[in-house]
Parts: sequence; structure tokens; C-alpha cells
Amino acid sequence: MEYFPAALEKLVEQFARLPGIGGKSAQRLAFHVLSLTDAEAQEFADAIVEAKKKVTCCPVCRNLTDGGLCPICASPKRDERVVCVVADARDVAAIERSREYTGRYHVLHGVISPMNHIGPDDLEITSLVERVAAGGIDEVIMATNPDTEGEATAMYLARLLRPFDVKVTRLAYGIPVGGHLEFADDATLMRALEGRREI
Ligand SMILES: [Zn+2]
Repeated sequence: MEYFPAALEKLVEQFARLPGIGGKSAQRLAFHVLSLTDAEAQEFADAIVEAKKKVTCCPVCRNLTDGGLCPICASPKRDERVVCVVADARDVAAIERSREYTGRYHVLHGVISPMNHIGPDDLEITSLVERVAAGGIDEVIMATNPDTEGEATAMYLARLLRPFDVKVTRLAYGIPVGGHLEFADDATLMRALEGRREI
């Protein structure tokens, strides 16, 4: 590292801290920044500072927003009686892309993970329970990932919400569209059979 000037080394170190970026990639990105014009470099730096300053959590659903209610909570067209619970703001974007869902969301900001020392108190769980307790919600859809931690989180939340007069559902499991039965693992096939429906 000492082959580089100190300021460049510092930049490489910053890139190397980003998730999924190794030492070589960090150097490549830092050299790319050096090749930018002053205006481009300023724009890049401003984007980081501005995103950090302006992006906050929606007071209702905890999704990321530019301040105040997020556009989904603010929209009168979205069904406030249905709430889809997701682990991450990126999951909201994924479900929105389907254009099928017209309800609202609740973003947990993670899943319960004893391995990573993430417990219920580290997530937006109290805010979800308070939201359901306030009434006006008929159905809560658990849309955490179908892996061990996602499953455990969905089960934990379902238990927490049991005392309330609300239907708790889970996203259906199955064979991916365009997939082949012979390549599906046993657990996926079993879940797909369990979740079958009349056509
Ligand atoms: Zn919101």
C-alpha cells in the first residue's frame, strides 16, 4: 500500500470497506475516481453526503424516504388494510416491480439472526406491533425470505400478532417460473406441493 500517495491510499481503504469489494477492486475504483474531472468527483462526493443526510425512515412503514411519509404510505390508492412485511427496503422495490401488490408495507431492516447477534429489539418489530394494535389492518403478509432466518422471523412475528384480530399469511413457496421440476430440491418440491391451489 505504501507505493501510493497517502491521499490515494486513504481512498483505496474507503472503497475496500464497502461490502463485496476486495483489495484489487478497491484500487481499481480509487484509480477511476482519480480519472474523473473535478466536477464529476464533486458530484460523486455530494451524492454520498446528500443521501446520508436526506434519506430517512418513513414514520409509518419504516421504508426509506426523502423525509416525511413515504410515497406508498402517502398514496390514497394503496390499501391500508393489507401490510406486507419485508426484511429490507430492496424487497419493497422488488415487490413493487411486479405491479401486482396494492397494499402497504412494513420494513423490518433485517431478520432475527442469533448467529449475527441480531435480536427482535434490533429490528422494526415494536413499530409493526403498534401499527397492528392501532387497528384498521385486516391482513399481514409475511414476505421475509424462505431461508432459516426469514422463516424464524416470520414465525416469531406470527406468534406476536396472534392476540390481534388480523389474518397473518405467508408468501407461497414453489417452483420458480421457468424452472424445471427435476432440478428443484426436495424442500422446494415439498413446499410447492403443500402450497398447491385449485386452477
Ligand atoms: Zn411508509
